[in-house]
Amino acid sequence: MLSHTPVLGVEHVTLADAHGRVLAGDLTAGSPLPAFPSSAVDGYAVRAADSGRTLRVVGESAAGRPLAERIGEGTAARILTGGVLPDGADCVVMIEEVSLDGELVTIPRGLRQGTNFHAVGADLRAGEKVLSGGTQLGPAEIGLAAAMGLPLLPVHRRPRVALMSTGDELVEVGKTPGRGQIQDSNRWALLGALREAGAEVRLLGIAPDEPEPLRRLVLDALGDADVLVTSGGVSVGTHDLVKPLLESLGTVHIGRVKLKPGKPFTFATLDGEGRKIAFGLPGFPVSSLVTFEVFVRPALRKMQGFASLQRPTLPVRLAYDAIPSADRTEYQRVTLRREGSGLVAQSTGSQSSSRLMSLAGAHALVRVPPGDHGIKSGSVVEAMVLALPDVQ
Ligand code: AMP
Ligand code: MG
Repeated sequence: MLSHTPVLGVEHVTLADAHGRVLAGDLTAGSPLPAFPSSAVDGYAVRAADSGRTLRVVGESAAGRPLAERIGEGTAARILTGGVLPDGADCVVMIEEVSLDGELVTIPRGLRQGTNFHAVGADLRAGEKVLSGGTQLGPAEIGLAAAMGLPLLPVHRRPRVALMSTGDELVEVGKTPGRGQIQDSNRWALLGALREAGAEVRLLGIAPDEPEPLRRLVLDALGDADVLVTSGGVSVGTHDLVKPLLESLGTVHIGRVKLKPGKPFTFATLDGEGRKIAFGLPGFPVSSLVTFEVFVRPALRKMQGFASLQRPTLPVRLAYDAIPSADRTEYQRVTLRREGSGLVAQSTGSQSSSRLMSLAGAHALVRVPPGDHGIKSGSVVEAMVLALPDVQ
């Protein structure tokens, strides 16, 4: 699937819109930071060679207001945090360490050159690589870019995703369902998951289980979308129309997976201009979200240029016997809690693919291979971490 998934093009965003975006190339410092020797404290700029003497104060260097005079033998300048170290001075004495008498200041013995100021390039050397392409921009990264004087940053475009629910039984949330009808919960669950994964989502609403309206909705949506995500309509019943539709629009590469929950998961590439991909997610609420985690999220991250595509994993100790499925890999939902220096995983209860309560509040997915052995309570396994538990 990832080999069929394109990395999207580059756009430039302002610092105000950069949070959460993924840098599209390395950022290198064009000039050193700080660009001038900058005082780290409030005090006096002096020559270390004058240690222990009483000096004449010739002026002040405040932040943004440098002093023109040079500091020569027997003289000092008052200096404030962020002020430029005047020429001739080679260290700063903290205000707490001097004694003052009018325009005269007496400084301690044994001062060393280079103390209490940040030398040119102490934070960043000119030419130093500051951020690597594929890094997600957070507060510190945005601050760095701003400190380097970059108002616009190159980032990968966010994937535009068209999201559609299918099924004659679905009603809009808030409407009273008639007999046999249910609320369209997948749309809202998947909207959250898509946004969290960095996508821009266009909501297409509910498509009925009829080929023509479904086809029209999809064709209309594909115009400006990079990705189509549907839920429902991918099993093998007569009303399951998504797979034949995707087959008619492109190539279905995956039409079923040995995964529990999520067996009917479908992946296709669509013909036409540019490369578009489609995910047909199963209708059962847990199946749609678990297959989203396992298959869709990494693809959306690849499109955005992320260096890392997968959720992090951590070793966890099972506090329950994980019963396997006979023939499918199962992603069991667990909560985590800290015990000593490790993490302990407890099942969220019935793992039915319709039971969203098995995913609500879950911290991790534990991958249980098929077979007759399962994983015994007390075993340590690598779990795919969705969220870390709060500290108690
Ligand atoms: P399907 O894959 O269409 O056979 O649907 C499998 C199950 O998931 C059925 O019980 C559907 O009613 C249910 N389902 C399908 N779509 C949704 C949805 N959007 N929200 C909640 N449940 C759904
Ligand atoms: Mg259906």
